[in-house]
Amino acid sequence: MPSHFAPVSDEDAPAGDPFRAPGEWYRGNTHTHSTCSDGKLSVGQVADWYERHGYDFLCITDHNVVAPLDEAAGAGIVVIPGAEIGVAWPQAALAEVCAIGIREVRRKHVHPQEVIDDVLDQGGIPFISHPHMSGVYSSLMMDLEGLVGIEIFNAACQHSGRRGVSTTHWDDLLTCGRRVWGWACDDRHTDDEYPPPPGCLPYRDHAKGWIMVRAPRRSEEAILQAIRDGHFYSTTGPTIHDIRVEEGMIHVRCSEAKQITFASVPWTGTRVHAEPGGSLTEASVSTGAVGEPSRIMGTIANSANLGDHPRPKKMGSYFRVEIWDGEDGYAWSNPHWFGTASWTPDEA
Ligand SMILES: [Zn+2]
Repeated sequence: MPSHFAPVSDEDAPAGDPFRAPGEWYRGNTHTHSTCSDGKLSVGQVADWYERHGYDFLCITDHNVVAPLDEAAGAGIVVIPGAEIGVAWPQAALAEVCAIGIREVRRKHVHPQEVIDDVLDQGGIPFISHPHMSGVYSSLMMDLEGLVGIEIFNAACQHSGRRGVSTTHWDDLLTCGRRVWGWACDDRHTDDEYPPPPGCLPYRDHAKGWIMVRAPRRSEEAILQAIRDGHFYSTTGPTIHDIRVEEGMIHVRCSEAKQITFASVPWTGTRVHAEPGGSLTEASVSTGAVGEPSRIMGTIANSANLGDHPRPKKMGSYFRVEIWDGEDGYAWSNPHWFGTASWTPDEA
């Protein structure tokens, strides 16, 4: 069964680190609707739109059906089949599992674990659509086996005012040692002329959130494997050029930014700010400033001394990087883990 826990083939490119991976950068949107469900454009039209706007690949994810891709054949963009599958998850408001790289929807409106198992069985990649909008609390996702990732930015949800950012859910999962990737997407439904409902801002669900994948080739197979391996970052605009961990330091290089944040486990993490009126294109911080195990132990011990805090049994040990350009632009790296997925303070 394919799994993101599988070791990657190139030992120089650890899981989650696209910057050491060989190949080229490919831009793609992993969540798109067509006229096969509630999208306004046909598969061919929407593929053509993304090709004209500089995309290298596009995943078609209609509701509960894998759209036929014949219409897009010959387009200069890799079109990857998929679906967004409704699940029965009574604790969540309206939950969906997105799946890319599948040929048919064989399980729907069942528990998400059954959908995830079937998607993996088909060689596809399952991820949770817009957890924040769907009311999928972090705790619901903790026990899912084989989950490859979650949407951390969904443009359709964000720009219609409905809870498009799920980075808190991601940190919750990572903190509990769940190795899941996070990605940004459009969740496109509209065409260019789609009028907003009265009193609402225009929907902006195209070319607003995407991933940059580092893969050896521009093919469906290579792109899907790179996504499984976490060899990508997410963005709404900014570029991440490099993230490197060397001799106790983390070095980041990126396009012009106002803030470079190193998000990590509770009570740790740090942020580097540009000077007033200026911008940053790089930052370096010590691994001791983020979720490096000795730091966690000291921080938790200090917190425990403030009162009668029960100490957590298990905690992940990771950091991830967020870039902010001072306006609408964010970029998010995948997590870098220190050592094993889980770290138990009591055993340290
Ligand atoms: Zn959708």
